[in-house]
Amino acid sequence: MIEMSEVSKTYPNGVVAVSNINVKIKQGEFVYVVGPSGAGKSTFIKMMYREEKPTKGNILVNGISLPKLRNSKVPIFRRNMGVVFQDFKLLPNLTVFENVAFAMEVIETHPKEIKRRVMEVLELVGLKHKARMLPTELSGGEQQRVSIARSIVNSPKVVIADEPTGNLDPETSWEIMNIFEEIHNRGTTVVMATHNKDIVNNLTHRVIAIENGKIVRDEQRGDYGYEY
Ligand code: ADP
Ligand code: ADP
Repeated sequence: MIEMSEVSKTYPNGVVAVSNINVKIKQGEFVYVVGPSGAGKSTFIKMMYREEKPTKGNILVNGISLPKLRNSKVPIFRRNMGVVFQDFKLLPNLTVFENVAFAMEVIETHPKEIKRRVMEVLELVGLKHKARMLPTELSGGEQQRVSIARSIVNSPKVVIADEPTGNLDPETSWEIMNIFEEIHNRGTTVVMATHNKDIVNNLTHRVIAIENGKIVRDEQRGDYGYEY
C-alpha cells in the first residue's frame, strides 16, 4: 500500500535528507521509524502524505503516484490518510467536537452522520464526555487523543504519526500507544516515527532504522537499537 522506489530528497539548501530509499509497507502493518535526530525520519514520513515531494524516485500510496499527483488533488488524497503530530496541531478556537468534525465537514458529510461518527471516534479515544471543551482545557495526553480521533474520523487505511508521544510523560505515552494499537487491530496501517525506546522494545512491531538518509535496518519484530 506504500511503496518507495529509489526515493531521494534534497532540500533547496542542498541538504540531502533521504538518499535512495526502497521500501514496501503492506496494508495492516505497524511500522516504527527510528534513528538519530536529523537522520531523515520526518522527511521520510512527510513524503508519504505528500507534505514533501521527493527530488528523485517514485512513491505509491494506495495505488496513487505521489510525485505525479497534482497539488489540486492533494486534499482529496489526504482524506484517506490520517496524520498525527507531536504538537497535536489542534485548532485552538474550536471545541473538541469541532476539531474532529472539521475533517468531515470539508467533505460535505450530512450533519447527522458527522455527529454520529465524531461521537463514535471520541468514544474510541475515551473523550466523549469532553466533546464541548476547548483544547486549552485539556491535558497534553487528552489533546493527543483528540488529534488521533481527528486522524481516524474518515476511516483512513493508513495513519502516519510523527513522534506522537514526544511531548508526553511515560504513562500518558502508553495510553496513547494503546489507542494506536486498537486502531491497528482494526486493520489500519500505522507508520510511526518515534524516539521512545521503551515503547518500541515492549510493544514490538516492524522497525525501520534510518541513519544519514538511508535505511540501515528493517526488522519484522525489531528493537529500538539506540541508547536514547
Ligand atoms: P529527523 O526527523 O530524523 O530528525 P529530518 O527529516 O527532520 O530528520 O531532517 C533530515 C535532514 O534534513 C536534517 O539535516 C535537517 O536539518 C534537514 N531538513 C529537514 N527539513 C528541512 C527543510 N525544510 N529545509 C532544509 N533542510 C531540512
Ligand atoms: P495530566 O496530568 O494528565 O497532564 P492535567 O493535570 O493537565 O492532566 O489535567 C487533569 C484534568 O483536568 C484533565 O481531565 C483536564 O481536562 C482537566 N483540565 C486541565 N486544565 C484545565 C482547564 N484549564 N480547564 C478545565 N479543565 C482542565
